[in-house]
Amino acid sequence: GLKVENLTRRFGGRDVVSDVSLEVMPGQVMCLLGPSGCGKSTTLRMVAGVDRQDSGRISVGGEVVSDDTVHLPAEARHIGLMFQDFALFPHLSVFDNVAFGLKGTKREAMRRVGELLERVHLEGFETAFPHELSGGEQQRVALARAVAPRPRIMLMDEPFSGLDNRLRDGIRDETLDILKDEGTAVLLVTHEPDEAMRMADEIALMREGRIVQRGAPYNVYNAPVDRSAAAFFSDIN
Ligand code: ATP
Ligand code: MG
Repeated sequence: GLKVENLTRRFGGRDVVSDVSLEVMPGQVMCLLGPSGCGKSTTLRMVAGVDRQDSGRISVGGEVVSDDTVHLPAEARHIGLMFQDFALFPHLSVFDNVAFGLKGTKREAMRRVGELLERVHLEGFETAFPHELSGGEQQRVALARAVAPRPRIMLMDEPFSGLDNRLRDGIRDETLDILKDEGTAVLLVTHEPDEAMRMADEIALMREGRIVQRGAPYNVYNAPVDRSAAAFFSDIN
């Protein structure tokens, strides 16, 4: 799983992320939910290893990957990423996109890619190129690519916001099914209460860099910590 302890990040003398702590178990979906600018993506970037905190500690599978003395690069953290604008490689086939991060033999790669393409209902698309696919199909290839190397942690930053409503529910469910099967710990970032309610096992509600409430979606929704949290949830459908 993932453990984040007392993470703080300052920009221009302002705490953009302030003393954030959270823990995500294997197979669990933790959702960082909050309004635009509250520090969600900044938190995710530090966990991913593309930015470094001013203080605090990040551990993956019990191993410290970043604190005051240790700082592993992104590729050494066993972390997968799914971002809205995290595009497929346009010059690579579907097969090569999904196989991209895989180590081991060609034979093993073929087995893993085949298994995942079947899982996302894209068997037969191996030789297609991204521009030949619909947005939803591209998203499913991106999902297969992200889970292919069996990351311990999956970080998702508004991964479904580019999709229309009709596609979104199906892909959300498919994504959750696969990540639960693989036992991946998921940290999902969204500013949409609706998405958090659908996908999270636990919600951490963020405001101005801090986590102000956490709990099961139902509990956070039904017992918001203050007026501002209640208002934030009130436009849910
Ligand atoms: P959104 O829902 O709009 O994506 P967010 O919660 O992901 O918002 P962040 O991207 O984490 O918000 O940004 C939080 C605050 O930190 C913002 O005010 C942003 O301008 C500021 N910020 C982020 N990165 C930097 C940076 N590299 N330099 C200066 N300020 C930054
Ligand atoms: Mg963001």
